[in-house]
Amino acid sequence: MKRHLDLRPALLLLAVGFAAQAQTVLIRAGRLVDPDKGTASTAQQILVENGVIKAVGANVAAPAGAQVVDLSDRTVLPGFMDAHTHLCMTFVTQGGHGLHELIQRSLAATVLETTTRRALIGVKNARDMLESGFTTVRDVGNAGNYADTELRKGIEEGMFPGPTIINAGRIITPLGGQFHGLQPERPDLGEPEYLYADTPDQMREAVRKNVLFGAKVIKIVIDDQPYLYSVEDVKTLVTESARAGVKVAAHAATEAGVRVAAEGGVASIEHAYTASTEALQLMKKKGVYLVGTDFSRSSAEAMGMADYHQKVVERLKRARAVGVLQAYGTDIIFPVQGETRGTLSIEGITSFQEAGYTPAEIIRFMTTSAAKLIGVDGQRGAIRPGMAADIVAVPGDPLADASALRKVSFVMKDGKIIKR
Ligand SMILES: [Zn+2]
Repeated sequence: MKRHLDLRPALLLLAVGFAAQAQTVLIRAGRLVDPDKGTASTAQQILVENGVIKAVGANVAAPAGAQVVDLSDRTVLPGFMDAHTHLCMTFVTQGGHGLHELIQRSLAATVLETTTRRALIGVKNARDMLESGFTTVRDVGNAGNYADTELRKGIEEGMFPGPTIINAGRIITPLGGQFHGLQPERPDLGEPEYLYADTPDQMREAVRKNVLFGAKVIKIVIDDQPYLYSVEDVKTLVTESARAGVKVAAHAATEAGVRVAAEGGVASIEHAYTASTEALQLMKKKGVYLVGTDFSRSSAEAMGMADYHQKVVERLKRARAVGVLQAYGTDIIFPVQGETRGTLSIEGITSFQEAGYTPAEIIRFMTTSAAKLIGVDGQRGAIRPGMAADIVAVPGDPLADASALRKVSFVMKDGKIIKR
């Protein structure tokens, strides 16, 4: 029995309605990547009608009046996915002084920035992500008072371009959120950035509040305070979320946190920076995705957290040996001169390259694997008939050298050409 009003079919119709204004397009692909197989076919055509892929093959004819897009000198792939974004937050760091500064900046954003500003930041970051080839993101909170829901709706209604967004609303945490050192006269300063929930009743209420106000995934923080959520707490949150048809993403940076999250049955664990090999094996056994937010060397340095880069590369090597499920997720929250949110996000692949992953593995984490975790694998993440036309192209051969993924030169979103 359905316990909530499901508006998704109506929204899908709305999205298709906008896409229907797009012309019929035939794309000529020099090479077309199949992420699941890790292979590419040459000289393929992709027919797109009303925002949806109608046909794919070597002998697909262009219907009369179709726009032909010649990408015969390029490699075509499904649009990329980022399973860990914070589109409605951009810190201005001052030289990068590490984790402490990040927390202070986050608190400052909560206190000083209006939800309106947070939404405008989201519009900018969403556009930049799309330009770099990210056509779907799972946005895991830190959006003030539901700026992420308005951002998602604006994109779905065609008000401005951006990726498909699966948003988390407010992050559910124990008292204090992720702010360390809140003073006892103002413990409330962590809200609305966070949604405090300490008792089982508060946890169920928090999930319901998020779903009511537009969340499509629930984000919880396990271990950012001296008082961790327990396995029972996580099970309460996961059960209530499942009743509403949404999955749970858990922030867990420590060994203890990763174990609690995995035993509690979350869909993904975010960060797991210091997870032991045994904890990674537990995740594999439980079918929990690792969304490692594996900062590139330059990103880690920009935040004053250079040591995190070596940590994640080392952890990525162990995760590969264990064979834990993975989805690409970036966690970029800061600006760098001359870069965009999109270029910083795609740079995260360098950590996987350093850890010895093959280009095919990296592409899979960014497409079909991420689509499964995010829950859009029926509509997005692959190029085949019936799927939404989220398509990108790069020069060269990304299956030989993943660095080509950083040079996206064509983007189609729901059948609309965004960049060419
Ligand atoms: Zn994050």
